[in-house]
Amino acid sequence: MTSIAQNIAVVRSRIANACQDCGRDPGDVTLLLATKTQPPALILEALSQGPFPIGENRVQELVEKAPAFEDLQIERHMIGHLQSNKAAKALDHVSCIQSIDRLSIAQKLDRLCKDRGRTLDVFLQFNTSGEVSKFGMDPGAAVPFARSIAALPHLRVRGLMTVGLLAPHPVLSRDSLSKLRELRDEVNDASISGVELRHLSMGMSTDLEVAIAEGSTMVRIGTDIFGQRAQPPGRYWPEKEWAHLGE
Ligand SMILES: *Cc1c(COP(=O)(O)O)cnc(C)c1O
Repeated sequence: MTSIAQNIAVVRSRIANACQDCGRDPGDVTLLLATKTQPPALILEALSQGPFPIGENRVQELVEKAPAFEDLQIERHMIGHLQSNKAAKALDHVSCIQSIDRLSIAQKLDRLCKDRGRTLDVFLQFNTSGEVSKFGMDPGAAVPFARSIAALPHLRVRGLMTVGLLAPHPVLSRDSLSKLRELRDEVNDASISGVELRHLSMGMSTDLEVAIAEGSTMVRIGTDIFGQRAQPPGRYWPEKEWAHLGE
């Protein structure tokens, strides 16, 4: 087995154990490969153990790597912050955008979808950790936000997404993860027409067990499958939130 195949086996058994601990079915938890900075050859190696959906953070990488995946039946998601001027490019390469963090980007995507005669699955991203530097809608606005997005005819609201508190120990991120589950219940209880929240996208390499205990249906794993990334995290997330981790 290659090391990537081994790493995937380890992550799969972590998912299975976490599910067992809380009486959930491992089949209800999708493993998404978080592939930022990884070259297509390594991603294809990981996909040989799949199928898995894959998620990119930057539109430029999404576009650059696209040819490698053209002939494959895989789901590609955008999981990083999406700038408005890159929305059209992103749309060419994804079936789902998990980082819907403001109404304006959703409206733009809806118009683009209309022009192209297609629909797009979206997840609503919330900032559940309260970190000022993080992307995501304010949890206090969950229901009105879901309502506004649901009113856009070409977007299908399929789930919620969060990046949990990046803390030195995974138990510290629990509140930020349980918060997303509460938001899902709140939105579901509002019975908004067209909103069918199938997914809670949360849990990364360090906190996947806690995320599963809190109801995650999609964990997004990078480091524990591909190894440490060379690029500094500030390239993907605001620099500031990493300062306390000493990176
Ligand atoms: C990088 C990234 C991940 C994966 O994080 P790891 O700690 O490397 O597993 C998950 N979600 C998002 C939004 C990311 O940017």
